[in-house]
Parts: sequence; C-alpha cells; structure tokens
Amino acid sequence: PEKYRVAIVGSGNWGCVAAKLIATNTLKHNIFHDEIRMWVYAETLPNGEKLVDVINQTNVNVKYLPVRGANMLVFVTPHQFVEDACKRLAGKLRGDTEAISLIKGMEVKVDVPSMISSLISKQLGVDCCVLMGANIADEIAEEKFSEATLGYRENREVAERWARLFATPYFAVTPVQDVEGVELCGTLKNIVALAAGFVDGLGMGSNTKAAIIRIGLNEMRAFSKRLFPSVQDDTFFESCGVADLIATCFGGRNRKVAEAFVINEGKRTFDELEAELLQGQKLQGVLTAKEVYGVLERNGWFDVFPLFTTIHDICVGNKSPSAIVRLYQL
Ligand code: NAD
Ligand code: 13P
Repeated sequence: PEKYRVAIVGSGNWGCVAAKLIATNTLKHNIFHDEIRMWVYAETLPNGEKLVDVINQTNVNVKYLPVRGANMLVFVTPHQFVEDACKRLAGKLRGDTEAISLIKGMEVKVDVPSMISSLISKQLGVDCCVLMGANIADEIAEEKFSEATLGYRENREVAERWARLFATPYFAVTPVQDVEGVELCGTLKNIVALAAGFVDGLGMGSNTKAAIIRIGLNEMRAFSKRLFPSVQDDTFFESCGVADLIATCFGGRNRKVAEAFVINEGKRTFDELEAELLQGQKLQGVLTAKEVYGVLERNGWFDVFPLFTTIHDICVGNKSPSAIVRLYQL
C-alpha cells in the first residue's frame, strides 16, 4: 500500500521540535514516507536572512517543500495565523488527507467560538484530531520525558496512526475520545498561566500559585462544559489538563511575559515585552483571554468566571495586577 506522507504547517518553536519527533518515526515505521515537508511562513529574520533558507541550511531532517502531495497534515502555527494558512491550502489537498492540530487557541467569529480543529475541518473538509499536553518544546528538544494527550472524535484507528507518528520513548501519547475537551484544556491553560506570571511578578509564594492553578482548573472545566456539554471530567486529569497547566504556570512563555508585565508596572505593553523576551515567538494567552472575555460578556458569565475576567482586565490595564488575589473579596 502507498505510504502516508506527512507535512507540517508551521515552523516555530514547537513546530520544529514536533518535526524531530515525527522524523524519528517516519524513519522507523514503514507505513510512513521518510521525507517530511514543512510549510514555512515566508519571513525575513532580523539579520536579513530568510527563515526558509536558514531551515534548509541547518536542519538535516526537514526540508522546505510545498505541502502538496501530503495526506497527513500537522498544524502548528500560532493560532492567530491558522485561518490564513488554511485559505492558502484550500483546494490544494489530496482527497484522503487527515489533519492534526497542535495549536493551543480558539477563533471567535462574531458570536460563536470555534475551536481551531473545527476551523481546519470546515475550511479544508478534513478530519482533524488534536495533540495537547505538558509539552514545553525546549525540554522535548532535549529528549526529556513528557506525556501528551491525543484527542479524537470517532475513528480510533486514525488516532492510533497519529500516536504512532509522534510517540517516542521520551514522548508518551495517550488517545482520548474527547477532542473538544483536550483542545479546550490546551487553549484555556494559556490564560491561567498569565495569572501565574502575575503572582510571580508580585512576589507571592507557592500557596498563591497553587490557588491560581486550582481556581484556574475549575474555570477551565466549567467554561469547557458550558461550550461543549460532551466534554468529560476525566480529560482534565490527562496530560492536556492538570499537567499542562502546571508545566505552563511554572515554565512557560505566557508566565514569563506576564511576570515581566508586573515587574515593569504596566509601563510596557504585552506586545513590547513579547517582542523583547520571546524574539519572534508568539504569546497565545493574551489574545485567548480577550477572546474568552468576549464569550463571557455576550453570555453574562463574568460572575461565574472571576479569574478569566480579571486576567483580561489586568492585561488591558483596567485593573492592577494585585486584583488577581482579590477575586472573592466582597
Ligand atoms: P512560535 O511562538 O515559535 O511562533 C512563531 C512562528 O510564527 C514563527 O515560525 C513565524 O515564522 C510564524 N509566523 C509569524 N508570523 C506569521 C504569519 N503571519 N503567518 C504564519 N506564521 C507566522 O510558535 P510555536 O511555539 O511553534 O507555537 C505554535 C502553537 O503550538 C501555539 O498554538 C502554541 O500554543 C502551541 N504550543 C507551543 C509549545 C511551545 O513550547 N512552544 C508547546 C506546545 C504547544
Ligand atoms: P507557553 O506558550 O506559555 O510557553 O506554553 C507552552 C505549552 O503549551 C507547554 O505545553
């Protein structure tokens, strides 16, 4: 039978590390074609070099070639760019294409929030699984052990093929039949991580961080179930849930930039701090907090989600960071 051909849409921090995991398996398992193709956003680096050229020169496993011809597509751009990427790909895909999204974020169109996997499915007419978890890319690049959760809708066989493409001895993948639950965990924890950064910036201790994580997990679960009643409680105890929340609240980029926001006393915007501290990598939490705030506002849910509401208020300067520890004060 014809081998599966993999292409990766996105070439950032996680995209490149995911490519390493995938390359290990395309070489190891016969069902996959060895070569991986990567869709690279055409950008010029600050030193004037083109990103595409740098990747072609420096990466032995990954070559830049068009996505055409692939039938397993891995989406891993920052969430704000995925719609544009889909538009470019529409009409160019094989009929037997399957997709997976590693993207943590949502898209809010007018009123209705749409998960990124549904956006990919709708725009491209393909089935789309998700892969989320406590997966700080730099640590996986060093082959330090971590777990991930693979969310799928119906087809277990497809989910197992994706798991085979990603799993290595240092990257354990568990399939779970709850695509929305898995994806919402990955999306919403980026908001809570901002609060973790705020309390770090305020010089609070471990008890405060733990309180933020506990309240945050509760709001993540409540919000997910309001949007999708099918979401399962167990999903929040998988890697995509509590584990990713902890990892991101201690070691993630959202935490880091939120801490700097507090230390700079709001005098520097998140955009400025992102550019300075992440050097081309993208924060997802601030935009997601805004998107979720819009959903809360339209539904009259501010009282039910005081943490999510307050995080957005702090990000836009309507409240001071210390409001994060006054959530329940009368
Ligand atoms: P990143 O933060 O490194 O993003 C930068 C990338 O975005 C660059 O490669 C750049 O070329 C690209 N880009 C910039 N402008 C663009 C445009 N207009 N259109 C398309 N691409 C553009 O990306 P990442 O860390 O790989 O994150 C991608 C997704 O994976 C996010 O949703 C993130 O939450 C998720 N994720 C990241 C990590 C991690 O540790 N980095 C771990 C798990 C999940
Ligand atoms: P940050 O985007 O906050 O670095 O989180 C990365 C991540 O999703 C780890 O699982």
